[in-house]
Amino acid sequence: RIVYVNGAYLPEEEAKVSVFDRGFLFADGVYEVSSVLHGRLVDNAGHLARLHRSLAELEMAAPASDAEIEAIQKALIERNDVQQGLVYLQVTRGVADRDFAYPEGVQPTLVMFTQSKNLLQNPQAERGIRVITTEDIRWKRRDIKTVGLLAPSMAKMIAKRAGADDAWLVEAGKVTEGSSNNAYIVTRDGTLVTRQLGNEILAGITRKAVLELARTSDLKIQERPFTVPEALDAAEAFISSATTFVMPVVGIDGQPVGDGRPGPVSRRLRELYISMALQEIGE
Ligand code: PMP
Repeated sequence: RIVYVNGAYLPEEEAKVSVFDRGFLFADGVYEVSSVLHGRLVDNAGHLARLHRSLAELEMAAPASDAEIEAIQKALIERNDVQQGLVYLQVTRGVADRDFAYPEGVQPTLVMFTQSKNLLQNPQAERGIRVITTEDIRWKRRDIKTVGLLAPSMAKMIAKRAGADDAWLVEAGKVTEGSSNNAYIVTRDGTLVTRQLGNEILAGITRKAVLELARTSDLKIQERPFTVPEALDAAEAFISSATTFVMPVVGIDGQPVGDGRPGPVSRRLRELYISMALQEIGE
């Protein structure tokens, strides 16, 4: 696989970053994951907009213009012949002697790589996934997409050891989001509920599109926190993210959601999201 690091396209074995890189020492960096369908980037403008917001919150300079970043993303898709999958991009503050205060005048480190993955024919989407709930032990600025991902890794391991596919994170009795996705329920009276934006969750690019699709489908929507008992009592549940699109959740903490199969609203929103993405790229 060919990866990109600071201006160079290299075989992955040859790509190197300094041990003094602040991404490595402080998780002082941000990232974005854009999905690829038919060799084309999906909703990349949204991901680049969020990248700028994350950078601004951390007082970090952009490593390149959007046009330059997108050109690199496209070059990697091409060189690695990615039909379906993702492009990962990471910006860290750069290399400096270890000190908590931000260094001045350093060059940001820009790293990008691709992963090929079947996103459209994902067998998990047919079956639905099962989640467990666990305490949200992350920091208080989850709206910034930093590479500090140990808390969600721990949550994912708790899920895995419990035989589940993912974790829903819970703070003060309310679900914030999934380990790497936004969380939704559909109540028995057909209302779509997902937590409102704020510092407690990441503003998913897919979430924004899903809510727009839900709105145009005349679904009732409430952006508010929901409890675990409410989720257990829901008719449907699902998650959204760039690489899973809309993914039905059929079990929570070992209990079936609804009849334990992907529900009609989740399936419909998945179809709508995929059609919209394919339309965007002209397929
Ligand atoms: N929340 C968290 C914590 C995430 O890591 C992600 C994935 N980046 C999301 C939500 C979903 O965001 P998006 O739809 O932009 O992939």
